[in-house]
Amino acid sequence: MLSFKDYTMKFSETLIPTLREVPGDAVIVSHRLMLRAAMLRKLSNGLFAYLPLGLRSFRKVERIIREEMDAIGALEIKPTVVVPGELWKESGRWDSMGEALLRVKNRLGSDFVVSPTAEEAFTALVRDELSSYRQLPLSLYQINTKYRDEVRPRYGVMRGREFTMKDAYSFHTNEESLDETYQKMGRAYRRIFKRCGLTVIPVQADSGAMGGTGSEEFMVESEIGDNTLLLCKAGDYAANVEKAGCKPDYSAPASPEAAKAAAASIPALEKIDTPHVRTIEELCAFLKTDAKKFIKTLIYKAVNVELDLSSAPGCSKLQRRKPAPDAPEVYPEAFFAVAIRGDLDVNEVKLAAIIKAAEVMLAADTDVERITGAPVGFAGPVGLSTVPVIADETVTAMNDAVAGALAKDLHYTHVAYGRDFGPWLVTDLRTVVAGDRCPVCGGELYEKKGNELGHIFKLGYKYTTSMKVSYLDENGKSHTPTMGCYGIGLDRTLASAIEEHHDDQGILWPITLAPFHVIIIPIKYDGAVKAVTDQIVAELEQKGIEILLDDRNERPGVKFNDADLIGIPYRVVVGDKNLAGDTPKVEVKARAEKENRLVEVSKAADELAALVFSALAELNR
Ligand code: ATP
Ligand code: MG
Repeated sequence: MLSFKDYTMKFSETLIPTLREVPGDAVIVSHRLMLRAAMLRKLSNGLFAYLPLGLRSFRKVERIIREEMDAIGALEIKPTVVVPGELWKESGRWDSMGEALLRVKNRLGSDFVVSPTAEEAFTALVRDELSSYRQLPLSLYQINTKYRDEVRPRYGVMRGREFTMKDAYSFHTNEESLDETYQKMGRAYRRIFKRCGLTVIPVQADSGAMGGTGSEEFMVESEIGDNTLLLCKAGDYAANVEKAGCKPDYSAPASPEAAKAAAASIPALEKIDTPHVRTIEELCAFLKTDAKKFIKTLIYKAVNVELDLSSAPGCSKLQRRKPAPDAPEVYPEAFFAVAIRGDLDVNEVKLAAIIKAAEVMLAADTDVERITGAPVGFAGPVGLSTVPVIADETVTAMNDAVAGALAKDLHYTHVAYGRDFGPWLVTDLRTVVAGDRCPVCGGELYEKKGNELGHIFKLGYKYTTSMKVSYLDENGKSHTPTMGCYGIGLDRTLASAIEEHHDDQGILWPITLAPFHVIIIPIKYDGAVKAVTDQIVAELEQKGIEILLDDRNERPGVKFNDADLIGIPYRVVVGDKNLAGDTPKVEVKARAEKENRLVEVSKAADELAALVFSALAELNR
């Protein structure tokens, strides 16, 4: 049961210090409006306080998420935000997480972490309680504070340092069970965002080096989004650029042998002088041909590589090590040559995923010189044996190409894949761009900028292995469960709703997130106007409508502007003029509409309630 205060709030008794001007550092609409509408105040860089109005909307996002999580059988728990550093050492992330992880010590000198996410805490809790397969599958969630020491917090609560996340973690005996929960979560996420009035684009995402098998991000289109999405015009495909693939724009031979056969008619490899020519552009100009004819070869350094390199060229001396006591063995550092068609860019996220590396980066010039035996600019796959060569699939279709000759001012022409070189690995490494072909229907792909609101991810065994979680099957045999994780940022979701729903005057709340359903503005809260206002408020309250009563002694213009700014979906104005006569009336206006209507006082509450409930039903359907 809601208390009186939950239904009706008097403007004069709450704290809604709206602003006409906004601080200069607020550059995006949601940040500006959240400050101006007095939802939010900044405490420090990346740290914000929700004021009463903002908190009401925040709680509504929270309630929607909770309802949808409960509906799919996820169980809410509430761990602490500060967790023992030990758990993070077990998982290996104490060392691998970098500076975003806030590490603190207590008075006894023990290490703690202020949770940026909670795989460790949930895995540890489940480890202690799990014994039998009968307890699985199990989905647990929390809606709780997170802290990430973001380098550049910006755009208000879109990227704060402290924020609130719904994070869920599921545990399973097998892949099918994990997939079932993953699908359920995906459906729940679609419902959550729909109920919040948000248009989200679910996209396939990178599942990372940890061997995850599925990953979907829920994006909203946004100019300030730091994700690039590739979308099919026919709606057949949507992916984060980190993951996006495309239909081949070349015809690849079936095998290296077929490639070699196809190259039979190509002239033999020839070394040519290319003085002072290093870049693809310079080469194109020098040889008067286009970039698609070049095999671009880049030397990469990779950190903590999990892929087995024992049979890879140039890797026989590499030693494996464990970054953390229970973590899998990795090569702390390894170098690779990546060959790709000259008009394309290497997708470093794909590369890192393929070689299971924590991080990849272009090698330093001195490393390039050591590996290729030439200054930067002359790397090529022919005769390169100091590092493993990884070729993008486009290279397999190249049989009369130009490539660096591993010597200063020299290139090879007539280079043929299969005849002149055979890479250690062939895989998809290209960065897909607008104009490339949809991998499903072959139609054109286009790009959009996106902001991530939520993420669902099949984690697999990463944490359950490193943190030694086990259960017994029906035969008493011990197994490790597989795991999924599922996050949504509440603050970012709320801010995104404002990004999608506003006009020049202020916010246009989807009714499900509006701090109040109705704002009632008596022109002067006194006499007959006050009596009618109180009557309508009482009737609306009876029906469960949430009302902000602007009882302030302000000019009507000020109250109207604030009402528009705050964005409450329905406005009722009670004034002397409309109350005079046989059938006293009030003005009713939807925030999204220009015109108001006169409604008889005796019918006002019924009519408003009908509007509110049908708007709610529409979004909650
Ligand atoms: P981003 O790439 O934007 O930093 P992320 O990949 O780090 O996001 P996750 O770790 O998947 O995000 O966290 C789940 C959700 O938490 C995100 O989808 C986002 O809504 C929210 N979130 C993450 N970082 C922040 C932040 N600094 N401020 C507000 N919300 C955040
Ligand atoms: Mg992040």
